[in-house]
Amino acid sequence: MSAAVQPTPRPTVTVLGLGPMGRALASAFLNAGFTTTVWNRTPGRDQELAARGAVGVRSAEEAVAASDLTVVCVVNYDAADSVLRRPEVATALKGRTVVNLSADTPARARGTAAWAAEHGVRYLDGAIMTPAPTIGTPHAVLIHSGPQELYREHRSVLDALGGTHTHLGEDIGRAAAYDIALLDIWWTAMTGYMHALAVARAEGIGAQELAPFAKGIGAILPPAFEEAAVEVDNGTYAARVNPLTSAASTMAHIVHTSEAHGIDASVIRSAEGLARRAIGLGHGGDELTRLVDLMGRRG
Ligand code: NDP
Repeated sequence: MSAAVQPTPRPTVTVLGLGPMGRALASAFLNAGFTTTVWNRTPGRDQELAARGAVGVRSAEEAVAASDLTVVCVVNYDAADSVLRRPEVATALKGRTVVNLSADTPARARGTAAWAAEHGVRYLDGAIMTPAPTIGTPHAVLIHSGPQELYREHRSVLDALGGTHTHLGEDIGRAAAYDIALLDIWWTAMTGYMHALAVARAEGIGAQELAPFAKGIGAILPPAFEEAAVEVDNGTYAARVNPLTSAASTMAHIVHTSEAHGIDASVIRSAEGLARRAIGLGHGGDELTRLVDLMGRRG
């Protein structure tokens, strides 16, 4: 008599938070064939997912009790903590794993990890570096930190989110630290671009007229990032191309042009101020990379 072949149980996963990103995560898990339980603070956001087979439940505690792995993706850690730290949720989570993909600071990630350790919850932190539509495609980029063993254990589930996953180390705050540094680039660069478009408009140049040239500036950045990184790690700041005296002079032209049009120049003024401070300290012959040292210093 031959033994009946038991079907392999489908992996289970829970997603807490159904904003654009939470929905994209849940959708990718469904596409991968996982039994996916979903919950959101405001009811009704799970309808499309439920139509595709997701299990919608009424409470966060029911949601986390349904799977060994819960992925949290809400606006920030105030929101994540307000869900996870409710006593009934904490009790249901005991012995299970949480992967928190909400964005916040490294300190908040460490705080939530300490709470998780106290409550017997296994905890990984992470950040998503690409927009919601990339999830489930090769273009997704996710970074993770926390216990390597735990990451290995759940890697096959996380892989359903597509793209590239990088475990950055056991320090639970490390993914958030990368996220903050990378978002710093994004937001200061995009604010600079918005300012440039305002100045261009005041000079009668349409945003779409400037855009092809703006893309040219963007294309110069990747090698400049690499070169600057080497200089900063080596502490070799002497100017190769553009000394701070010259950089500050160019920045001043932007400030003058903006202010002549009544445009707020506070972002570029702040950059010029840093460059002038470095020059005042005798670093006028150095590259802009000197500012990395200067910004960490008071006075
Ligand atoms: P939001 O950042 O707007 O977050 C919305 C989610 O947070 C909803 O589920 C909302 O619930 C929930 N939420 C807000 N406040 C609370 C609270 N006090 N208690 C419980 N839940 C709360 O949308 P996204 O889904 O886009 O982003 C989620 C996370 O993903 C964020 O940290 C974001 O930075 C990150 N991210 C998003 C990207 C994107 O492309 N969207 C790209 C990369 C990262 P409710 O519906 O009840 O308001």
